[in-house]
Amino acid sequence: MEKVSVYINGRFVGFCEDGEKIAKDLRERRRQGQLDPQINVASFPNMKEVFINTDEGRARRPLIVLKNNKPMLTEEHLKKVEKREVTWTELVRQGAIEYLDAEEEENTFIALTPDQLKDTERQYTHLEIDPSAILGFASSQVPFTEYNMAPRVLMASQHTKQSLGLYASNFNLRSETRGYLLYYPQRPIVQTDVYENMGLYKRSSGQNFVVAVLSYAGHNMNDAIVVNRAAIDRGLGRSAFLRTYSAEERRYPGGQKDAFETPQEYVQGYLGPEAYAKLDINGLISPEEIVEANSVLVGKTSPPRFLKEISALDVETEKRRESSLSVRSNEEGIVDSIMISETLSGNKFAKIKVRKTNIPEIGDKFASRFGQKGIIALLAEPADLPFTKDGIVPDLMINPHAIPGRMTAGHLLEMLGAKAACLDGKLKDGTSFRGDKQADFEQSLLETGFHPAGHETMYDGVTGRMMHAKIFIGVIYYQRLHHLVSLKMHARSRGPVQMLTHQPTEGRAREGGLRLGEMERDCFIGYGAASLLKERMIDSSDKTIELVCGDCGSLAVHDKVKNKRYCPVCESGDIHEVVMSYAFKLLLDEMKSIGIFPKLKLKYQA
Ligand SMILES: [Zn+2]
Repeated sequence: MEKVSVYINGRFVGFCEDGEKIAKDLRERRRQGQLDPQINVASFPNMKEVFINTDEGRARRPLIVLKNNKPMLTEEHLKKVEKREVTWTELVRQGAIEYLDAEEEENTFIALTPDQLKDTERQYTHLEIDPSAILGFASSQVPFTEYNMAPRVLMASQHTKQSLGLYASNFNLRSETRGYLLYYPQRPIVQTDVYENMGLYKRSSGQNFVVAVLSYAGHNMNDAIVVNRAAIDRGLGRSAFLRTYSAEERRYPGGQKDAFETPQEYVQGYLGPEAYAKLDINGLISPEEIVEANSVLVGKTSPPRFLKEISALDVETEKRRESSLSVRSNEEGIVDSIMISETLSGNKFAKIKVRKTNIPEIGDKFASRFGQKGIIALLAEPADLPFTKDGIVPDLMINPHAIPGRMTAGHLLEMLGAKAACLDGKLKDGTSFRGDKQADFEQSLLETGFHPAGHETMYDGVTGRMMHAKIFIGVIYYQRLHHLVSLKMHARSRGPVQMLTHQPTEGRAREGGLRLGEMERDCFIGYGAASLLKERMIDSSDKTIELVCGDCGSLAVHDKVKNKRYCPVCESGDIHEVVMSYAFKLLLDEMKSIGIFPKLKLKYQA
């Protein structure tokens, strides 16, 4: 018989006769407490391999052990757990519960619910502690997971990570580089057990919106959303953005150092008296001062970069240069707090926190907990919005077409559930596989005088006429995502260029150009828009005029002293000016540097 290879932590250690027996034996010993509970074994008979893992970094999860389809975690255990007579660790030690890693899971057959164990045809090895334990931390915050398509749940867990909320209750003492805060966070009306048990309701990151599912004059096409302006004015989705700037008084070799101070006129790069008007005698700005883009926060001067030879005639003392800390070129706000301290090396340093209130505006992103994200396209006047017979005006309107194709039935179920909760005053449970049921919500709605399906007759705010459609309206938890237009909006006419290529810089933070990529370039070529192509690629980018020798084709030079142009290779005087992109000139230089001699053949010589 072919022998089975045994690996410990991925390293081959030897052969054995029967891999299955080894795996079974090790597992038995682990359950009896003879081996550490952190050891995992996986046997792959087809591959003739056994893997024993004991190392760190494996994601492991607890499961109830079964023996002949009977849970090792008995009723007796559960009673003791309730009386707190037995701890989790003891249950693991007794072999009732064990932790499996991804590799050992390959050898298991896990029942989701105790009901499945009644099927004697199947031999299960483990039982899930709770069916919702198959989900991760982020996706178990999604209510009614089982009613949605898996990719949507995945998207929803991504959105949850991007949502604004109360990330820490001591935010005013902290100094993160960037911080986002939601003004009035609310706990969701429909929530899951995980949300409750993790205490996430204390750090909520969303609000319960009244949402109507209807199109509004084409303003909410596709994933655009229409939001009630009055709701925004009352603080819906309002958030704060905090940015911490820091400056340090550095020491340089030679005993020189930076200084926090208001720079004087003689300082190199002096910005003018207005720029420093808000600074105090220490060169620092004060709290609650309004700052705009490029406002100076900390006045600072540094010693000159290069030491000058001091001649006898030089009366001038050292010329310090301006190196103040300013607000970013595309941000503004109010100074929140100022902290002064010392670095480990004893240098003085300051941290300035700037705060800005971000009121939701056109272009800001919102998402429900079902992967249904949308961008505000219109802040509608409340008077123009449709209303119900009770006078309820929706906070937000999504397009009905967002639902069928995405198959996020949970979205509708949460709207229904939360609407029922608002009427009967009881929070609803959306835990996966065992949450509250649709029928209960319908019952609640019926008892409070609403249609069990959640739809209502609405009246057009503009004309006042009844709308001849049943409009689904309910309450649902929405999250404001941190993709704010105010932090993304960008345009440029002229601006800085890169030193190496002479092309415009990249990125909003560096006042960069808007990229005209390969695909856009191909469009211009396809349309035959040659002048536009030349304008984009040369004139508005890295245009340069180089001298080229008409005889040998190499780049020529201009001797400024003699005011003469000549070719350094063939010494010819037949020199022509050629317009090209600087990146091309750079390519010629790089070719020369690896021993290739590029020559330019000139046509149509002027
Ligand atoms: Zn030449």
